Amino acid sequence: MAGIIHKLSAARLNRLFLGGELSAVEITESVLSRIAEVEPAVGAFLTVTAEHALDRARKLDARRKAGDTEFGPLAGVPIALKDNICTCGIETNCASRMLKGWVPPYDATVVERLRASGAIIIGKTNMDEFAMGSSGETSAFHVTRNPWDLDRIPGGSSSGSAAAVAAEEVPVALGTDTGGSIRQPAALTGVVGMKPTYGYVSRYGVVAFASSLDQVGPIGHDVEDVARVFQVIAGPDRRDSTNAGRTPPEVKFGGEPSLKGVRLGIPREYFGSGIEDGVKARIEEAIRQLEDLGAAVEECSLPTTEYALSAYYIIAPAEASANLARFDGVRYGHRTAQANGLHDMYSKTRAEGFGPEVKRRIMIGTYALSSGYYDAYYKKAQQVRTLVLQEFQRAFERFDALVTPTTPVTAWRLGEKLDDPLSMYLADICTIPVNLAGLPAVSVPCGFADGLPVGLQLIGKHFADTQLLQIAWAYQKVTKHHEARPNLAPKGGRQA
Ligand code: GLN
Repeated sequence: MAGIIHKLSAARLNRLFLGGELSAVEITESVLSRIAEVEPAVGAFLTVTAEHALDRARKLDARRKAGDTEFGPLAGVPIALKDNICTCGIETNCASRMLKGWVPPYDATVVERLRASGAIIIGKTNMDEFAMGSSGETSAFHVTRNPWDLDRIPGGSSSGSAAAVAAEEVPVALGTDTGGSIRQPAALTGVVGMKPTYGYVSRYGVVAFASSLDQVGPIGHDVEDVARVFQVIAGPDRRDSTNAGRTPPEVKFGGEPSLKGVRLGIPREYFGSGIEDGVKARIEEAIRQLEDLGAAVEECSLPTTEYALSAYYIIAPAEASANLARFDGVRYGHRTAQANGLHDMYSKTRAEGFGPEVKRRIMIGTYALSSGYYDAYYKKAQQVRTLVLQEFQRAFERFDALVTPTTPVTAWRLGEKLDDPLSMYLADICTIPVNLAGLPAVSVPCGFADGLPVGLQLIGKHFADTQLLQIAWAYQKVTKHHEARPNLAPKGGRQA
């Protein structure tokens, strides 16, 4: 089995570890050797914590050998974390020069929970700088490549987490999703990505981008693994005042997949101009398969969808401009070498530390919040946000979930949209409304268009995350698109 350990699911690895068939050290070594093999091509990681992981694996093995049976659902499972999630003693730099070398003195709540469940942290993944971007290319350090075609982007901002799973470097990873950053890269790399309901998962220790939108969530090869990680990380946390204090009900999968009695809405605005033919065809097929599973499918309309992107690009930068004010050269990370007084120190530090996309967001956000423009932009955007939420709530009186593409396009070529921020922003048109409304959503693989993965998005009601996962599981069970793996040859393509 040695050569394929890294390919196994989190559920399987956990079972094999608990049964004594595989040691945590064997699992960790297999994953580390896969990382060594493919990282030069993929570039999913910023930091690989080999020593830390092996040390942890040895301790798990010793506990198991000593007869300990109190292991959590991720015992023996390697996991990678997006680099905006604080890890005690492990550098966390958000792919920014501003935080290069910064080592947090504490763990984020999600990391505490992962450790308590027996997971093995393998490393920190590359991302768009401070989670701002849709392609992974705004990382200050290197680009991450799409394992299906190394000339293409993996999506973003959780670029490294999605690519690491797709390239079989780790079975599962955590990302964060402010406007689509888990679902969009999951779709573009052919894996499953979930954004939980806002408030289900603690944000404590997660470097804030836009606090009213950010949510941590899992990425994996299948719905079962994603559900397993979700159940570990979700739940009450008094250190995050926006945490809802709720524990999700346990998800159980099994039996014959059926969607009898499930009502699904298809919002027509998500199929408008800009959607590629190949993507549209895959989503239409998926809708037919959902119907075959017994779901009642009906078209619906969410007219405010067209304003969601504009509202997001006021609200997210506004919150970012406030959140990023703390990076001033005094408290964290980078400080300019030479400055003439305090003001000069602030301004040089920030000019040197932040990349162009982060600066663009800070400028837009500061402008939108400035007196004289606040009502015209920020207040208006908040009003639009309320309308988007109300429209979803009305739709959920008739439907249990909504079905849309995750992205209107498949993975584009590296560099293709870098000089055109607007076209980059449009890649998130299907995912952003969900964050504005705080809803849960999951992206599952639904096939290929021109050899590139396409993602199906399922959007659920507030705190109906487990029901959403059940729907996604039924779909996955009858389609098996999630079993395809890239061959990582320079030209990419599907494995026979
Ligand atoms: N791509 C979007 C942005 O750049 C969303 C990012 C995210 O979800 N973190 O803001």
